[in-house]
Amino acid sequence: MIPSTEKFDVIVAGAGPGGSAAAMKCAQNGFRTLILEKRRLPRDKVCTGMVMGEWAKSIIPEEFGNIPPGVLIDPGHLSGHMVHVPGVPTRVIECRTPIAWRKDLDSWMNEEAAKEGVKIKDRSRVVAVSHDDRGCDLIIEDDEGRKEFRAKFLVGADGATSVVRRSLFPTLKVRYSSPIRECYEGSLNIERDYCHWFFPKSLPRPRFDLHHKGDFFLIEGSGIRELREDIRLILADYGFSINAQPLWRDGCAIALLHNELITGAFSPALGNTLLVGDAAGLILPITFEGIGTALKSGLLAADAVSEAAGHGGGAGEIYLQKLELLLLAVKKFHGLQEDLDSAAAHGASELAKDLKGAYEETLKYI
Ligand SMILES: Cc1cc2nc3c(=O)[nH]c(=O)nc-3n(C[C@H](O)[C@H](O)[C@H](O)COP(=O)(O)OP(=O)(O)OC[C@H]3O[C@@H](n4cnc5c(N)ncnc54)[C@H](O)[C@@H]3O)c2cc1C
Repeated sequence: MIPSTEKFDVIVAGAGPGGSAAAMKCAQNGFRTLILEKRRLPRDKVCTGMVMGEWAKSIIPEEFGNIPPGVLIDPGHLSGHMVHVPGVPTRVIECRTPIAWRKDLDSWMNEEAAKEGVKIKDRSRVVAVSHDDRGCDLIIEDDEGRKEFRAKFLVGADGATSVVRRSLFPTLKVRYSSPIRECYEGSLNIERDYCHWFFPKSLPRPRFDLHHKGDFFLIEGSGIRELREDIRLILADYGFSINAQPLWRDGCAIALLHNELITGAFSPALGNTLLVGDAAGLILPITFEGIGTALKSGLLAADAVSEAAGHGGGAGEIYLQKLELLLLAVKKFHGLQEDLDSAAAHGASELAKDLKGAYEETLKYI
């Protein structure tokens, strides 16, 4: 038997940056707010953990405070990025960038949200959502079984494989990419205070990145499997052993919804249910950074909830208007990504130059 329904003004599914930002702002605006997180907290996330781009860099201190030094992982701040295309000089992008394990960064943001009154319930997986004119009902599974929750407003911050998105748009076909992360002990003879982006085929994709965190170095990317031999050959120059075995390996999904967002085939809100961050497909083309867009869309969702509660009307419509700037950014960088394919046709040098330009553009734009 399902126990009686617990009610909140706002329920946020997912305790990542998008969920924390949305929930904290809603609580600050006086709403009784609950985060439901399927995993045990603190939890890690497949992510380089770079606080990159102007939005992430400004929203975190403004909303959560300065990142405590203990949250960052050595080297603490990267000096920037290096773009490696075979046969041409490495291109360097200077850009001071905090770096952390997501477990620590997200846990700190969860704590700051809790201080503002957000209730956080972990090990609670949202399994079903139904919507009506006055709000929505959620069924969750936790250690004790199934429970029901009801809220006037729902924020789906439940990442790339969002259950909330599926409840709103059950027929939407979503393409996914499947990046893998491998963690090795030690360090390589390469600048450890830079994130290194490698383009072994002299094409914008597939790519992989290499970065250091404390006593480890990590190799990440969607093309790691197909690039296995290239990775060994390229990294051998920096001391990567042919016999090196990762301490661990994990992976995740990225929802590729840029086309659908640009054409309007998918609008990430309906009624009083709003999707933010990766659930909304807002991971950026080119760099595939998404902490900044998750934070920004989380805050916009919270603003929309406040306005809808104050003046009436659906929060979704208000949110979609607020989201226009973000959608323009997705469109702009999606176009730039296509330009990179043309640059590759003009040779490695042209590709390296344009990759550097495109990365710089995303980093300074949002
Ligand atoms: C390899 C890789 C490297 C990356 N590196 C960077 C980087 O350096 N910088 C950057 O800005 N971006 C980076 N990104 C992108 C970034 O990780 C995401 O865009 C960002 O985490 C999105 O935040 P979010 O809050 O939307 O979702 P998430 O951080 O994914 O959080 C979603 C949360 O929802 C929970 N959840 C899921 N389903 C349910 C459910 N049914 N019920 C309850 N809870 C649920 C999940 O457990 C999770 O905690 C990287 C991504 C990848 C794949």
